[in-house]
Amino acid sequence: MNCRHCKAKLSHIFLDLGFAPPSNAYLMAEDLTRAEQYLPLKLFVCDTCWLVQTDDCAHAAELFRDDYAYFSSTSAGWVEHARNYAQQMIDRLKLSSSSHVIEVASNDGYLLQNFVRAKIPCLGIEPTASTATAAEKLGIPVVREFFGEALAKRLAQQGRNADLIVGNNVYAHVPDINDFTRGLAAALKVDGTITLEFPHLLRLLQQIQFDTVYHEHYSYLSLFAVSRIFQQAGLRVWDVEEIPTHGGSLRVFGCHANDSRPESARVSEVIENERHAGMRSLDVYRDFQARANRVKDDFLGFLIEQKRAGKRVAGYGAAAKGNTLLNYAGVKPDLLTFVCDAASSKQGKYMPGSHIPILHPDAIREQRPDLVVILPWNISAEVRDRLQYISQWGGRFVTAVPELAVT
Ligand SMILES: [Zn+2]
Repeated sequence: MNCRHCKAKLSHIFLDLGFAPPSNAYLMAEDLTRAEQYLPLKLFVCDTCWLVQTDDCAHAAELFRDDYAYFSSTSAGWVEHARNYAQQMIDRLKLSSSSHVIEVASNDGYLLQNFVRAKIPCLGIEPTASTATAAEKLGIPVVREFFGEALAKRLAQQGRNADLIVGNNVYAHVPDINDFTRGLAAALKVDGTITLEFPHLLRLLQQIQFDTVYHEHYSYLSLFAVSRIFQQAGLRVWDVEEIPTHGGSLRVFGCHANDSRPESARVSEVIENERHAGMRSLDVYRDFQARANRVKDDFLGFLIEQKRAGKRVAGYGAAAKGNTLLNYAGVKPDLLTFVCDAASSKQGKYMPGSHIPILHPDAIREQRPDLVVILPWNISAEVRDRLQYISQWGGRFVTAVPELAVT
């Protein structure tokens, strides 16, 4: 297998989580008697460009199915994040009714609705039918395709180039990152701006966020690697912000390579921090499996203890990262009885692999579990707020990453 970016031979395994079903392949009751698809979940690190990446075996079209259940608008915190971002960009880039904004992976319109309200023309790119339909209902035009160089060139020929191209939590999810990046260049106006947000590999390493690894998440990105990928596509990074979303993300600002904008000092600072953390030598990657295993063992040991003590444990948040943790730890409904989720599209289904039932959040009030495991730790504060009533019966919250915490 060769590196998706630089084509160097990949010989260093960074993390091996065994086999797991695609993390968004939620099951219906009738699926529980059928065989389930399991794919290897293994990451490699390229020692030439330092891109961390999954095995090539899972195909995008299989993973992002039409019934793909994730609707961005179900997270209040994420909707607020998008609103703040849109206002910041409108001010900073002086966007107006003569500008054009493209969002790649526009999901249900959680972000572009802010540009619609500000009367700034926009276009969503979204291959998933269910979320695209939701966005169209908000008045957002949507092209229902995967983004890449071919689509970008068509948009450019139609004069639909963008002053701003937004990609929030999509860059790490594209199988062909070079083609996608060439697409960004092709769809961008001469003086346009690209912003991409993605989880920062530095935080994954520091906070042992191995549960953010799943098949749909193809690349684990440093600013160093992204700068190289941009460069090869005729783009460059001119600014970067470190933001708290998804356990620590980067918001990268890009432009054409020949754009005259000066480069912010923050770009070289972040790249230097990465180098200082050892991200351009193999040791830091080699040590990671043992650190991830310790987190997994502590979590599994804790659940077994609770079961033996007769405690009832439920989960909150049927997110992808929950599936990675539960499947790697081998947790089944005897250890974690049910998982609640606010998304109605997931309720009544079952978690892939573990077959834990997904219920409406009211189930927590009704069944009064002793412990609630918050699986998506990145929205832990939001969940604690929403479920603070569990203290009425002495209920406590549990998070597993970066270390087991019961509060
Ligand atoms: Zn490489």
